[in-house]
Amino acid sequence: MKILPINNLSNKNNIHKQYKYTLASITKPASCDTVCFKGINKTVAPKIIILLGAPNSGKGTCARQIAQKYSIPQISLGDVFRREIKYGTALGAEVKTYMESGGLVPDNIIIDVLTNRITQEDCKNGFILDGFPRTIPQAERFDEILKNIKGAELRIINLDVDKKILYKRSANRYICPECSRVYSLEKFDPKTSVCECGSKLIKRADDTPDVLTKRLENYEKQTMPLLNYYGNKVDYVGIHGIDVPAEETFARVDEKLG
Ligand code: AMP
Repeated sequence: MKILPINNLSNKNNIHKQYKYTLASITKPASCDTVCFKGINKTVAPKIIILLGAPNSGKGTCARQIAQKYSIPQISLGDVFRREIKYGTALGAEVKTYMESGGLVPDNIIIDVLTNRITQEDCKNGFILDGFPRTIPQAERFDEILKNIKGAELRIINLDVDKKILYKRSANRYICPECSRVYSLEKFDPKTSVCECGSKLIKRADDTPDVLTKRLENYEKQTMPLLNYYGNKVDYVGIHGIDVPAEETFARVDEKLG
């Protein structure tokens, strides 16, 4: 199987492609084998939320809360890739170096994995994208995909958080390798604590000051231009000066979504 170039993936009404990667982290098969958006619910307008923001701006935690409130899945390709690496899959081997060095995974892999994920049955009423798109080509490709999702209601939120807070969060962050919940050292002791799901918490390989600096450089160069790309479609939520608890971030985001 081969990955088609980004601008060659769709025909007029459907996306028909074969995926190069079989994801260890997705157990449910797509609802049809030429993959299309048949599964997307046509009676309920699918709610599609894009959460933009720098690394450590709180996208993941906030997306989890939105997912619960609106009963739509959170999609984080970063979480997908960490599980692929953990299970030692071909995809995991391919993305590991990019992730650990603070670089972005190439757009063709991203689009392949994303399309695979959003055509799963659980995305039929919509989904939250936490960490996608991260480049202009990804956004352009997603615009094409959106054309195939009838009645899609797109919301875009940008979490704008001071750099000092981003570094502090990165230093304090532990995650669950199974369910991807995020924990902060400020609230627990990693030596004695386990995740709500029972797994031992770990430090992310890319949570070091040097890697964060690289990730922030990439964010400024490759991801921030998306704010211009989406223009006045973006709602901004700012966290400046003093950090706020995750519940407060969620409340501010939810107010924009309401
Ligand atoms: P995250 O968990 O969202 O912080 O992502 C962790 C890492 O996964 C990133 O630093 C990238 O290497 C990779 N990644 C996740 N999403 C994307 C994306 N949309 N485009 C490129 N790389 C991504």
